[in-house]
Amino acid sequence: MPELPEVETVARDLQRWVAGATIAGAEVRWARTIRHPQPPERFVAEIAGATIRRVDRRAKTVLFHLEDGRVMTVALRMTGALIVAPAGTADDPYARVVFDLADGRQLRYRDVRKFGRIGLWPGGGLRSVGAGRGARSRRVADGTRRYRIGEVFSGHGPEPLSRSFTAERFAERLQRRSAKLKTLLLDQAFVAGVGNIYADEALWRARLHPLRAADTLDPRDVRRLHRAVRQVLREGIANRGASFSDYVDARGQQGDNQERLAVYRRTDQPCYRCGHRIERIVVGQRSTHFCPRCQREPVASVEP
Ligand SMILES: [Zn+2]
Repeated sequence: MPELPEVETVARDLQRWVAGATIAGAEVRWARTIRHPQPPERFVAEIAGATIRRVDRRAKTVLFHLEDGRVMTVALRMTGALIVAPAGTADDPYARVVFDLADGRQLRYRDVRKFGRIGLWPGGGLRSVGAGRGARSRRVADGTRRYRIGEVFSGHGPEPLSRSFTAERFAERLQRRSAKLKTLLLDQAFVAGVGNIYADEALWRARLHPLRAADTLDPRDVRRLHRAVRQVLREGIANRGASFSDYVDARGQQGDNQERLAVYRRTDQPCYRCGHRIERIVVGQRSTHFCPRCQREPVASVEP
């Protein structure tokens, strides 16, 4: 499943290749891919003629900011991909929504398992989301469930690579929680964009056991984890994301980061730091990979 580095890679590619392009028309081949507006015919009518001003990312969602202020969101979920196809490229049987660009190219939303969702929303409110006080603010355009883009992300936590995501702020959030670190890192309301791969990698790098309770970390642990989360995400972006099954960039190419991971899917292989066998456990129904020597298991505290 694409996480922050994979979605960021796609968004940066699309910014380079489709910013300024006009969507002449769209074809929806799998109706459930369209989340908003409904029905999908209305989405098709409303997106036609729109010009893409800028492409970026929030959490694990690609955002197409349109010239008129509206925003199209593409949540790739399990197997979604956004691919720019030059004119004349053979059709793709897994393309669920096809956007015809005015210059003859196509922007194809490809999704084998069909869990991804596309929405088209009135603009406004996005900047405040996740920035603290605005995170819970409700912005509804009118009383008929015409959601604004800000509301789409109202349940998401802060962006881990933003300047405002400081070690101090991270410490404040961790201290109030007794949840296990792995569970908490996967919680999109706690921090946006981190998924199974980068949670495991960050915990290994910070030498913290995945089952450690968040409120047992000392200030040095917190600083190490804060740095580790940001490092593994930045390196993931630099390596154009990790491809294990379906993830591809906007050219349809795989990333390189799967070759450079320390623990994720390295069960029984030696730890790069100490040589001990990497173990796999299940935490909250998610595969979790760690080094039992570098990442010591939490022990119940004993009363003196
Ligand atoms: Zn180790």
